Amino acid sequence: MHDDTHCVYGRDGDDPPFRSLTPAVHRASTVVFPTVEAYQSRREAIYDGYSYGLYGTPTARTLEKRIARLEGAEKCLVVQSGFAAIVLTTLAFARTGSRVLFPDNGYETLRPFAADFLDGLGIEAQFYDPMRPDAVDRLLGPNTPLLWLEAPGSVTMETPDVADLVARAHRHGAKVAADNTWATPLRFRPLDHGVDVSMNAASKYLSGHSDVIMGSLAVRDEALYRRLKDVSRFMGCGVSADDASLVLRGLETLAVRLDRSEATATHLAAWFAEQSWVAEVRHPARPGTPGHDAWKRDFAGGSGLFSVYVHDAARARLDACVESLELFAIGASWGGTHSVVAAMRQVPPRTVTPASHVGPVLRFSAGLENVEDLLTDLRRAFAPLAATAAQEGIG
Ligand SMILES: *Cc1c(COP(=O)(O)O)cnc(C)c1O
Repeated sequence: MHDDTHCVYGRDGDDPPFRSLTPAVHRASTVVFPTVEAYQSRREAIYDGYSYGLYGTPTARTLEKRIARLEGAEKCLVVQSGFAAIVLTTLAFARTGSRVLFPDNGYETLRPFAADFLDGLGIEAQFYDPMRPDAVDRLLGPNTPLLWLEAPGSVTMETPDVADLVARAHRHGAKVAADNTWATPLRFRPLDHGVDVSMNAASKYLSGHSDVIMGSLAVRDEALYRRLKDVSRFMGCGVSADDASLVLRGLETLAVRLDRSEATATHLAAWFAEQSWVAEVRHPARPGTPGHDAWKRDFAGGSGLFSVYVHDAARARLDACVESLELFAIGASWGGTHSVVAAMRQVPPRTVTPASHVGPVLRFSAGLENVEDLLTDLRRAFAPLAATAAQEGIG
């Protein structure tokens, strides 16, 4: 079966004689047992069965099975946020004295997580340039249990050579975890490329409606799954049945939403590329974006998130233009039905390789609105900038 079928397939919520197409919402804190013996051995049930609402309800298990199928994984674990999934994976591998490698273009909260939290535990966070895999070798060693990557980086949009990074990490005995939020398993399956843990912020495309926060971790190895589940328990991670149900509902339309957002993003990106006040448009499907060849080789398609690098000279009038947009809300999160723009003063901070762009960045998430309406809104809102650019000879 194909991915779009897997998004909706499964009658796991059936409870005969009642039958429906919809997985049931099983709310629970307490789980009850038929015998004292079953109660006594409930610990073992945290992995695949039921022992306590925090460790899994039938609703959460149904969601985990569906995500696992899409990821080509054996097991999936859902937790209360994408970032919780990152933290628990990191802590499942790292000890005091360990070094963990993070990509220089990674999710922004990784830097304060490294500086203000991991550092205090005696865990060294080392950032690396994902586009220079050869420079990674010297950072790897016996005390390096884990390398994180993000494919592509969700602001600067570079697609790394995942298999190359994985080969180098594995040669040194390190596991690899990939933040696959931009692509979703429909566009890229990290585990097929040797990655050990595929992480998704389900708060974005998988849920798809900007109304729930969740993270998922998918793996092929049973022992690894058990380790992650143990750490999830020690950190008190879990999801509510209601939230799991919202993500299950979102998943059913993932394939059509993603196709639509990708197509719209392609149109909008092409429009931006023609504007005199725009320095560069970054989307992995665009030939000029770093790692485009790796994207073309490894990915089944793109998604609706892309970045517009604006000439620094246009900075003064930019905010007013962005604020005058009607169909694009200003916000950081993405992957929903509404178009959103994240307006940044600059490329997020890096420590290994300086950003190639000096100037503001607008990151757009294409929603499900009509593309002509979106273009009309953009043309109108950014007209003052185009006029100024013409006067001042920007571009
Ligand atoms: C949003 C996001 C996260 C964090 O997910 P939350 O569910 O918001 O905690 C991690 N990585 C990427 C790439 C994201 O976009």
